[in-house]
Amino acid sequence: MTTFPLVLSAPSGAGKTTIARRLHDRRGDVVFSVSATTRAPRPGEVDGVDYHFVAEDEFRRMIGAGELIEWAEVHGAFYGTPLANVGQAAERGRFLLLDIDVQGARQIRAAVPEAVHVFILPPSGETLVQRLVGRGSEDDVRVQRRLKNALAEIATAAEFDHVVVNDDLDEAVADVNAVLEGRTGAMRPHPPLPRLTDAVRAEIERHLGSSV
Ligand code: ADP
Ligand code: 5GP
Repeated sequence: MTTFPLVLSAPSGAGKTTIARRLHDRRGDVVFSVSATTRAPRPGEVDGVDYHFVAEDEFRRMIGAGELIEWAEVHGAFYGTPLANVGQAAERGRFLLLDIDVQGARQIRAAVPEAVHVFILPPSGETLVQRLVGRGSEDDVRVQRRLKNALAEIATAAEFDHVVVNDDLDEAVADVNAVLEGRTGAMRPHPPLPRLTDAVRAEIERHLGSSV
């Protein structure tokens, strides 16, 4: 059976994990790629389900042993996709969802040319701030770091095959589902990318400027 890898990237808090979970719950043919990470588990996160939580020594061993198809340092921790996930997806389902950052997406583009890449954008910078703060998973310092990183991440949106604005969750999920089904004509149109991304980035910059 062939595997169709779908990469979902987004600034932290834009909703890519929520969208990936919805797709996974809705479709029996979607396999979620469980990444390895050195970051600490959040309350409710389960080892082996949300992430493989590993110590830095173990992560470095996995890199050295060639066990990761891509890896990156993101927001001060290491994250990587086990190569084994790709093989398992081929056995268990058709679609492999990779929720990874933009550095990892670049590596997947080089290693897995058939992968399709979707960038999830928040409808506005303020919404991103609200979702990130509202999730309650990070302290203020970590929220600021994720917002600063968001500026650079959003600037890479044009590298992606498709952009989905996560305003209404059901509609955003329907758009990503349309990509999975090869019905990209059914996706909602969005304003031209530079206009959209410049507006979101300007709001994040304003927020960061007002909170220092
Ligand atoms: P990411 O994985 O991109 O960091 P999450 O999926 O954790 O983001 O979403 C961040 C927060 O925003 C979560 O609390 C989630 O419930 C909420 N959220 C996600 N999508 C939407 C949406 N379309 N409307 C409102 N809240 C959302
Ligand atoms: P979080 O700590 O919020 O779960 O994830 C932080 C960032 O790391 C997100 O952008 C997420 O997509 C990214 N990430 C998660 N797993 C991987 C991975 O295996 N590889 C890479 N490169 N990034 C990942």
